[in-house]
Amino acid sequence: MLRSRSPHFRNRLLTPIQYVKGVGPRLAKLFEKKGILTVEDGLYFLPRAYEDRRHLKKISELKAGRKETGFGEILLSGVALYQNNRKRIFEAVVGDGSGTITLKWFRGNERYLRDRFKKGRRLIFSGEVRWFNYQKEIHHPDVEIVEGDIEEDYLNFKRIVPIYSETEGLYQRTLRRLMKTIVDGYSDELSSPIPKEIVERQDLIDFSEAFRRVHFPPDGESIEKLNQQRSDGHRRIIFDEFFFLELGLALRKKGLSLETGISFKTEGTLSKKLMSQLSFRLTGAQQRVLAEIVEDMEKSTPMNRLIQGDVGSGKTIVALLSALRAVECGFQTAIMAPTEVLAEQHYLTIHRWVEPLGVRVVLLTSHIKGSEREEIYEQIRGGEVQIVIGTHAVIQEQVEFHRLGLAIIDEQHKFGVVQRGLLKKKGENPDVLVMTATPIPRTLAMTLYGDLDISLIDEMPPGRMPVETKVFPESGRGRVYRIVEEEVKKGRQAFIVYPLVEESEKLDLKDATQMADHLQKDVFPQFRIGLLHGRMKSDEKEAMMMEFKEGKIQILVATTVIEVGIDIPNASIMVVEHAERFGLSQLHQLRGRIGRGQYPSQCILLAQYRSSEEARIRLRAMEQTNDGFKIAEQDLELRGPGDFFGIRQSGLPDFRVAHILRDTPILIEARKEAFRLIQKDPNLEEPSHQGLREVLMRRWKGRLELATIG
Ligand code: ADP
Ligand code: MG
Repeated sequence: MLRSRSPHFRNRLLTPIQYVKGVGPRLAKLFEKKGILTVEDGLYFLPRAYEDRRHLKKISELKAGRKETGFGEILLSGVALYQNNRKRIFEAVVGDGSGTITLKWFRGNERYLRDRFKKGRRLIFSGEVRWFNYQKEIHHPDVEIVEGDIEEDYLNFKRIVPIYSETEGLYQRTLRRLMKTIVDGYSDELSSPIPKEIVERQDLIDFSEAFRRVHFPPDGESIEKLNQQRSDGHRRIIFDEFFFLELGLALRKKGLSLETGISFKTEGTLSKKLMSQLSFRLTGAQQRVLAEIVEDMEKSTPMNRLIQGDVGSGKTIVALLSALRAVECGFQTAIMAPTEVLAEQHYLTIHRWVEPLGVRVVLLTSHIKGSEREEIYEQIRGGEVQIVIGTHAVIQEQVEFHRLGLAIIDEQHKFGVVQRGLLKKKGENPDVLVMTATPIPRTLAMTLYGDLDISLIDEMPPGRMPVETKVFPESGRGRVYRIVEEEVKKGRQAFIVYPLVEESEKLDLKDATQMADHLQKDVFPQFRIGLLHGRMKSDEKEAMMMEFKEGKIQILVATTVIEVGIDIPNASIMVVEHAERFGLSQLHQLRGRIGRGQYPSQCILLAQYRSSEEARIRLRAMEQTNDGFKIAEQDLELRGPGDFFGIRQSGLPDFRVAHILRDTPILIEARKEAFRLIQKDPNLEEPSHQGLREVLMRRWKGRLELATIG
């Protein structure tokens, strides 16, 4: 992005951090570790907390039971021995003339502590004050060694002090000094061209001023609000991030609805025929969603609809019934799934359902090669096949459709906006239907899918048995095997799932393979055990799935390739190995593979390591609820929105400060304003909106792809 290595930059915000006075190459490397490359990155590096040092209390005034901050000199320090010399604690006694307090470290490198906390040093400390043996003490305090005259030090004292996240070699006082240089020198360059009318209505402060106040708050600020990131400065910065996100979404939605699409007018004869042949009736929710889709399809503007429905809610049949309407009007439908196993499975089900109606279906994955592939291309191009099911292979350049009318994307969260766009381009403004089984909290849906209409299948097919979930420690493995044995003896089938993480893929694969061998030889010689993993050839996978489906295999050891979509009603038990390594939503997806038939089902989570607190919360949540929405909310809370199936991969701009859950009220306001603005000026043509265009393009970095803009 940078055109020159010289320290002068046209956009001063893009100045590499190295050229800030006092930084230099060594510290720049440390900043880089924190993802801070430019001055602008630096400005967005907000304090993680604030400390109230407006009036430093005397040590005698510090109260037990409260988080307090004090200042003093080390009178004495060293290791103290307790419990017959069995316990070593590093202690520093600090005094200020009014009294003393003991700072204690139960862990940590003694040499380092001794070095840092030498007698005579002055320091500022904070933490929860407690009473012990008639003495005040703080355990593992936050400390800052003080040099120079504190009466003159207006950066670190006599104010609300920002606390930044440190990294080895880059500590509070240096950080604070450098941040001050950056804020003083560059905050004026920041601009956010949000129209005055909105600024006034939303009572927003000046953008540059917001950064100055957030880094070095004036004395009048509320320390509580600052620490909750709810100060006026924080609000302004967060509003800005949300506003430009929503403005992009509003534009995209507008752009989509301005396009002319296909109006599918049909009696629905084919889909009615299929419905009459099904062994079940659609649920009320399925009927409602189908009606919403049909209405969209009849309109001449292209459909852009998301079907949200928990695992097992029956999205496939709804998608297929929609596809048949397109087919009846002489158009093709493409169905794209994230994994081969899932694409194959869709192919098997759909093929079986519609071939009797005279509809031709074809499967296209990257494993189909050579002349066979060429032939499929030919059939698609010639319009001989009406429904094309596949993986990413479907959006390859060579694939040309005769007349693509409907593009369906299954498990949308595995794809990004970009793939959605590519599939759409295979036709002339085809209708787009995306489906996801990962329930998304409303606020996140508003951002991730802000440009889509949403339909919800919020009802499960009747007769589903709930899945009971239990966590077992490794020591319970024997019992787990007995439970599996009993189920299989009753005629049911079992999944045993292994995590497959990229970093240790080989190792995990070995684990899964060895486990399958071990189970077959030593544990369940009387049953047939199969193995399914992503590295297998697609015909091997297909064969394995078929054998399992037909009941020739009783226990299937699998990696997470079975995460999505697999449908085996007779499988009533699942054992997840290393459950502590999975995220909540992933566990929920996995669990959705069982409880699909009329049998009560069990999901057993084996936690192999002494798991972390967070892992414990996760596994407990799985025991407590089967509700995908509750699980998604919890997941979002635990992991934060960035990781939650990757906002990054979704193709939306990242947030640097905003947090979807914490800042929902701001998000809602920003969305309202952005959509209102686009309503009034759909193409951002007003002269006063030119600044918005520029910032929008920069934030979205070409991901908007709209004729209406630029
Ligand atoms: P998902 O929403 O997870 O993709 P599927 O579409 O795979 O769910 O459906 C799960 C199973 O439920 C399939 O076997 C499907 O045939 C069946 N199914 C779908 N709708 C109904 C219904 N209304 N009544 C009974 N079974 C249904
Ligand atoms: Mg599905």
